[in-house]
Amino acid sequence: MHCNICGGTEFVTLKKRGPVRCASCMSLERTRLLWLHIERLQVQPGWRVLHLAPERGVYQRLTQMLAPGNYTVADFDPTGYPFAPDCVQIDLTCMEDWPSDHYDLIIHSHVIEHIPATLAYPIFHLHRMLKPTGTHLCVIPFLPGDYDECFGLIGKNERLRRFGQSDHVRRLGTEDLHAHLGSIVTLPAVPDAREFFSEDTLRDANIPESDWSGFHIGTVLALRKQDYKLSL
Ligand SMILES: [Zn+2]
Repeated sequence: MHCNICGGTEFVTLKKRGPVRCASCMSLERTRLLWLHIERLQVQPGWRVLHLAPERGVYQRLTQMLAPGNYTVADFDPTGYPFAPDCVQIDLTCMEDWPSDHYDLIIHSHVIEHIPATLAYPIFHLHRMLKPTGTHLCVIPFLPGDYDECFGLIGKNERLRRFGQSDHVRRLGTEDLHAHLGSIVTLPAVPDAREFFSEDTLRDANIPESDWSGFHIGTVLALRKQDYKLSL
């Protein structure tokens, strides 16, 4: 068993989740599943890739794989990524100036639950920014129960209670998935990593079996541009 991003073989135990954090690149089980998908897509040096809230190990690998200037890493607060001095600022509530039909691949993990804008807004713009052949790879934390969101000043404790983390503005519930994300993009009925990867590959990358299928905090969605459903 090893980290498929950096090759590390030591894993740090997290509460309730077991030894899932790579001691070398800090990747989590969802980051390693994300990386399996990135490899599956056979990223070419000439691709233009946008990576939001970049994970260190993925950043280092993609920086090596992509031609200079083709890899854009961005976050609302770039100072949070000292390992990525080229990280630029992006405000996912204000995306009109970003180019259309531009990126071959857009990647983000655990970002959407932080964005204080109508859910369809960042999803629309990210799909607008994809080339017609592009892929939107995202990890969205799905939680049991129903959708909930609030952009108001409700305090950290209330955010923790309602959304599971003190800096989240929404929870994406699995019970009414069709009424929120599922009304914006075409979703698989039941995501299953085994459609793409063998069980041995998943085990070798230290991705626990509980993460292989269904909608949960580590679900990786591989959406195509045309999976956006609300076009005029
Ligand atoms: Zn690693």
